[in-house]
Amino acid sequence: MNGSLLIRNGRVIDPASGFDQPADLAIADGKVVAIGRDLAPGGSRIIDAAGMLVVPGLVDLHTHAYWGGALLGVNADKIGPRTGVTTWVDCGTSGAATFEGFYHHVIRRSRVRILPFINLSYIGLTAAGNLSIDVGELFDWRFADLGELKRVGSAFASEIVGVKLRASNNATGAHSALALPLAREAADMLGVPLMVHVGTAPPTIDEVLPFLHEGDILTHIYNQSVGGCVLDGAGKLKASVRDAMARGVKMDVGHGAGSFSFRVAEIAMDQGLLPDAISTDLHAHNVDGPVFDLPTVMAKFIALGMDMHEVLTRVTFAPASIVRRNDLGRLDVGSEADIAIFKLRSDPQNLVDSAGEIRSGTLGFDNVATICRGIVLEAVEDGRAEGRHYR
Ligand SMILES: [Zn+2]
Repeated sequence: MNGSLLIRNGRVIDPASGFDQPADLAIADGKVVAIGRDLAPGGSRIIDAAGMLVVPGLVDLHTHAYWGGALLGVNADKIGPRTGVTTWVDCGTSGAATFEGFYHHVIRRSRVRILPFINLSYIGLTAAGNLSIDVGELFDWRFADLGELKRVGSAFASEIVGVKLRASNNATGAHSALALPLAREAADMLGVPLMVHVGTAPPTIDEVLPFLHEGDILTHIYNQSVGGCVLDGAGKLKASVRDAMARGVKMDVGHGAGSFSFRVAEIAMDQGLLPDAISTDLHAHNVDGPVFDLPTVMAKFIALGMDMHEVLTRVTFAPASIVRRNDLGRLDVGSEADIAIFKLRSDPQNLVDSAGEIRSGTLGFDNVATICRGIVLEAVEDGRAEGRHYR
């Protein structure tokens, strides 16, 4: 059989089914073909996973993977093999003007899976993150071009998983009140979920949430910016947030360089705002810290009191189902052979949030091997640093 592989002696966990047992796992032709004890090796390549976790390849619901086409982009194919992340949901790094390049130069050539949201703005995040010409993607309203979005959206209908809007002052400038209904219209037009980021107002989170329906996504839920925060001045979860949770709006962490506060997370989680997805918002300005990678963000949620299964659920089938890919983030016979192997680390570690606050980690996830589409991803080096610093 093609590319057959046997992962032996690991602790196999499939959060979707609740399976958690010592087992071998056999892969052929890009699929999981058997899970059980003492599977015969046949002619397979063998990985010994004794003492390790064997879990579905991780799904990061918020990343920026258009390297070379946007200043914020990082190379998913380089970071995937050392982090266990096999599915990278790109959150609007490209708009209609730049999507085709993203698809042909990056998405199609990558060994990892990249599932793109398209930005409401024609130029996407091409200029975002450049501190010398800091021009938000919707400062000029001519970039809110639904005609172009429709053209590209229909040409790439089988690729695009959602529409993205950064609803904050640095992105929309004077146009926040216009951008929200237009983003709603764009997502409905393409028949995909809408993901909206909240941050520095305007608009406030109270103004944003009414535009989100069941299955849409709010990202940066634990940011501490006053207008964009889920908490009011007294530390109470805002009514608009409770209403959104009740109607099925999905809540995404989107850690980012400035969007994750341990303190906000602790207070909000105490009041019932748990994330549906634990994600990084990985980009060039946070890959060298405070985000680093998805396993580091997972360790932060262990430090916040979640157990390992609760964390694994939120980086596997839960985010996969949010982008309507119920075939991903699972490990059962017949499923895609996207697999991550981790060694658990229990030495104390200092974990830092976007505000520089520290919590002590109790458990870490060291990636040992990453398999996507049945192929063990070897490390690649392109001579290019992922992190960028403009100051
Ligand atoms: Zn982002």
